This record gives sequence, structure tokens and C-alpha cells, in this order.
Amino acid sequence: MKPPPFDYYVPKTVRGVIEVLQRYGGEAKVLAGGQSLMPLLNLRLARPQVVVDINRLPGLDYIRPKDGKIAIGALTRHRTVETSALLKERCPLLPHVAQEIGDIQVRNRGTFGGSIAHADPAAEFCAVVCTLGGEMVAKGPNGTRVIPADKFFMAALTTALRSDELLTEVRVPILNGPAWSFRGIAARQGDLAIAGAIVVIDADTQGVCTQARIGMFGVGSTPLRARQAEAKLRGRRLEDPLVRETAELASQEAEPSSDVHASAEYRREMVKHLVEWNLRNARSRLEKNPR
Ligand code: FAD
Repeated sequence: MKPPPFDYYVPKTVRGVIEVLQRYGGEAKVLAGGQSLMPLLNLRLARPQVVVDINRLPGLDYIRPKDGKIAIGALTRHRTVETSALLKERCPLLPHVAQEIGDIQVRNRGTFGGSIAHADPAAEFCAVVCTLGGEMVAKGPNGTRVIPADKFFMAALTTALRSDELLTEVRVPILNGPAWSFRGIAARQGDLAIAGAIVVIDADTQGVCTQARIGMFGVGSTPLRARQAEAKLRGRRLEDPLVRETAELASQEAEPSSDVHASAEYRREMVKHLVEWNLRNARSRLEKNPR
């Protein structure tokens, strides 16, 4: 199908984008990589009066260190995340998950900011930002806001961004000490995940867990943190019974629903196995590189 008619703006500055967004309110849609918006337009599931193309905005395509974190410009393509030497050194989880997204054509066009703003509950980047406790930088008519991940993802395809705000940057913590592990399952390679999990753990020289983050995706209306499961790990040795109990607890914190791809019960069961697999994998990485 073809998209419904819309007016098309191509501002050259962030201020110009915000002016258009402010003028049209919820009737305007930002176009970044178009990998989610264009299908929605073509299927007429979105019918904006105005499309604001941000592809020609200068200065929003970067990955750089900032105040002990890594700042990623909203227009940074998935493929740039996948191949970034800085991320491979300081936050290798992101390039690792980037290669799981869609296919090379999708990754050449899709933007990091677009994925975060779109907020698909099964999206890998949203899950990483949620698990690591990243921050979103939004610019609007009243200035700049920094929104933490746990306040940003509000529901499926719904974020804390206002209709007159542009997401300009995402900041993620540096992750080059703790062990991490990621795994998702999908019907076909490159499809959005049916269920997935991310684990980040650290332990002292005695093998006692000092840090634990467990993220889950595809099993709720937003990416989720399994906070009770995380608390269960801290201060304890990462032995098999604890790993199994933690995975079971994490799966109880999931809020899956059924759709054409899988039932809620299947998703809950799978996320338990994915958390357990990730915990074992991260533990073995810690054992190979003791602190
Ligand atoms: P767009 O499609 O341009 O925009 C998406 C939404 O975000 C729109 O509502 C838009 O208005 C808004 N938006 C975009 N940028 C901003 C901004 N800076 N500020 C405010 N609002 C903004 N994703 C996955 O995570 N995993 C997958 O496995 C996966 N597989 C895919 C397979 C296919 C075949 C396709 C077509 C897509 C797939 N995707 C997948 C989605 C892909 O990652 C998209 O690139 C991403 O979700 C959206 O990024 P975009 O830059 O294309 O955004």
C-alpha cells in the first residue's frame, strides 16, 4: 500500500525541527531511518499530517565518551553501532546486539535514536539501554531534558518524549569490567525477538556477586528489569541452585502477553531459560577473567 498524503519538511537545524513539531503537535511525525515509520505509513497504521525528515540535521551522528559514559547521537545508524571501535572497547554489549537486528539493509538505515524513540518492547537497543540504566536527552521548546531509562519507556511504542520534543542523544554507562551476556529467540534470524534476556554481573575474588543487572525484552509492554531477581544475586556466590532460583524469579517478574508469534506461557518459560543461560554464560566469563 501507499502511505496517506502528508506534508513533508526537511529542517536543517534541531531548532527548525522543534518549531515544526510545536506547530503541528501530535499531527507531526519525525522520520529518521524510516525502518519502523515507513511500514506504519504504508499500512496506514500511522496517518500524520506532517512528516519531519531529520536525516539532514548535522551533528547528530556520533559515538563519543562523555562524563564517564558513552554518548550516542540520535542519528547514529545501527551499522555504526555494530562496527564502532569505541563501543567494542567500552560497551561491547551494544555492537554485539546490533548485529542481531534485522538485516544489513535495516541496519544501514535504522538509527539508534529511532529505535529508542519507537520503543518496541522487543527491540534489542531499548533492552540494553533499560538494563544498563541509560539516559535519553530530549530537546524541545523549553530546553533540554535528560530522562532516565526507567522513566522513559512507558508502554509499548510509548515513551516520555513529548510531541514537540526531539530525542537527540542517548547515554549509556561504560561497561568494560563486569561480565555480560545476551540472548534472544526469534522465529527467523533478524526478526524481532519473541523473548530475550540480558545479564550483567560482577563478583569479587571469592566469587561473591557484587553487581547484578537482569534485563528482559519481548515479555512485557516495555523492556523490563528483573529487580527482585537482581537483589537475590547480590552478596551471594553464583552457584547453580542460586542461578536456577534467580531465573525462575526473573520469569515471574515478566509480564508477557500472547500474540500470533507465541503465547504468554511460552514467553515466560523461554525467558526463564534465557536468563539462566545468560547467568551461566556471564559466570563463566567472570571465571575466565577473575577480578
Ligand atoms: P523511524 O522508522 O524513522 O522512526 C520510528 C519512530 O520513532 C517514529 O515514530 C518516529 O517519529 C520516531 N523517531 C525517530 N527518531 C526520532 C527522534 N530522534 N526523536 C523523536 N522521535 C523519533 N528492530 C529491532 O530492534 N530488532 C529487530 O530484529 C528488527 N528487525 C527489523 C526487521 C525489519 C525487516 C525492519 C524493517 C525493521 C526491523 N527493526 C528491528 C526495526 C529497526 O531497528 C528500526 O530501524 C528502528 O526500530 C527504528 O529506527 P528508525 O531510525 O528506522 O526510525
